[in-house]
Amino acid sequence: MKVLCVASECVPLAKTGGLADVVGALPGALAQLGVEVRVLMPGYPAVKATLSEDTEACEFARLPGGRARAISAQAAGLDAIVLDSPRLFDRPGNLYVGPDGQDWPDNHLRYGALCRAAATIAVSGIGGWRPDVVHLHDWQAGLTAAYLKLGRHPAPPSVLTIHNIAFQGLFPPKVMRPLQLPERGFRASGFEFFGQVGFLKAGLVYADRITTVSPAYARELTRPEFGMGLEGVIASRRAEVQGILNGIDLDLWNPESDANIAARYSAEAPARKAVNRLALARSFNLDADAPGPMFCVVSRLTRQKGLDLLLEILPRLIARGACLALLGSGDADLENAFRTAAADHPGRVGVVIGWDEPLSHLMQAGADAIVVPSRFEPCGLTQLYGLRYGTLPVVSRTGGLGDTVIDANEAALRAGVATGFQFSPVSALPLADAIDRACDAFADKRLWSTMTCRAMRQPVGWAASAEAYARIYSELSGVTA
Ligand code: ADP
Repeated sequence: MKVLCVASECVPLAKTGGLADVVGALPGALAQLGVEVRVLMPGYPAVKATLSEDTEACEFARLPGGRARAISAQAAGLDAIVLDSPRLFDRPGNLYVGPDGQDWPDNHLRYGALCRAAATIAVSGIGGWRPDVVHLHDWQAGLTAAYLKLGRHPAPPSVLTIHNIAFQGLFPPKVMRPLQLPERGFRASGFEFFGQVGFLKAGLVYADRITTVSPAYARELTRPEFGMGLEGVIASRRAEVQGILNGIDLDLWNPESDANIAARYSAEAPARKAVNRLALARSFNLDADAPGPMFCVVSRLTRQKGLDLLLEILPRLIARGACLALLGSGDADLENAFRTAAADHPGRVGVVIGWDEPLSHLMQAGADAIVVPSRFEPCGLTQLYGLRYGTLPVVSRTGGLGDTVIDANEAALRAGVATGFQFSPVSALPLADAIDRACDAFADKRLWSTMTCRAMRQPVGWAASAEAYARIYSELSGVTA
């Protein structure tokens, strides 16, 4: 079984969020099941820098945005196909946003080129390799499904995975010509979305199967509060929509071998987690002797993530003797508010604004609990890393957060299954209650250590979910792995 995976980011080559973790880890898990995955991604400078010598290329004379070539090569251990177009991808900084803080004005060409190249490779192959199935990730890959379905040649089936429906790739109708899209697709039952061309909409309409990254989010997406205008399209395809939980890379995120943390530990020998706690306190200038738990946050700072609620209840968290270490970047007002909070509460609130992957590992290892108060969360990965590192998640009950954390309510405590703390609805008071419950549990040392060891033993890898994807590929293509 051969699968072409199409994505705009992939760990460890290019990352702005969880999409990259998934695209980086899933191919390895699928390989165990006999599925051969090649990842088609843009040739950003960091990607091209890692390409192996031994490459084979294919030329495209007329992609959106001009001439380009695809290089089939090993990149950071992955079988990659890299779309090489310096004009489109050789840019510094953020993948999607220019130095002025605005989306690059030619994002439709950049990801249109990726999708057109994907469709060509899907139909004609590259170096004799032709996929049985094409797996598209998020809006940046969505248009591929339209090229495949509206094209003249027989094409392999496609699956679209929605990682976050908030990002839809909407552009004015004038992009249709440079994107080589046929007029007949510009209608409500095609890629048109309220007068615009929608990349994600194209994927939702033309892909043969749709998945999203948790069962709860799959249900939520059919409701207007979560569907962001696409709920009708998704509801109309309900029979072909499936929620499959993300896993995590158990090698990259392993407290027994993680080179980014101060001391290695495991569920069987958890004591040295305390060494990481001290290192974390030092990094964030926090008082390691404060009596309450050390909470952490590793997150984009946007409204989705609900961290304004955490700001609101900070006085309560501090009154409980707890500390907070936050690593994140995003909206300027949230960045400033957290900087101010750190200045107002020295020793109790520590904030690093920026992107720092090694530090994110130390935080997972050193903190007692991780707070994820998202307003919506398709799956969420940081709570999964938290479980793996014995850092108990405090999460809102939405999307994948609700699907992956077992709330420490009375029944779960009695049954011996609790792994964290959930709250609902997503507002300040319920969050404060959950923080209170976490502080109470932390004060009960036996309970806390039982819960942390249990959390560390949760099956958060890819095994079950990779099987679910492999099943979909087989059903669509008729090919078994
Ligand atoms: P989303 O994709 O919505 O941002 P996820 O929880 O699915 O949220 O994935 C976020 C990923 O990005 C995680 O791997 C997390 O550790 C990482 N991350 C978020 N912010 C930072 C940061 N400031 N520095 C390093 N890693 C970060």
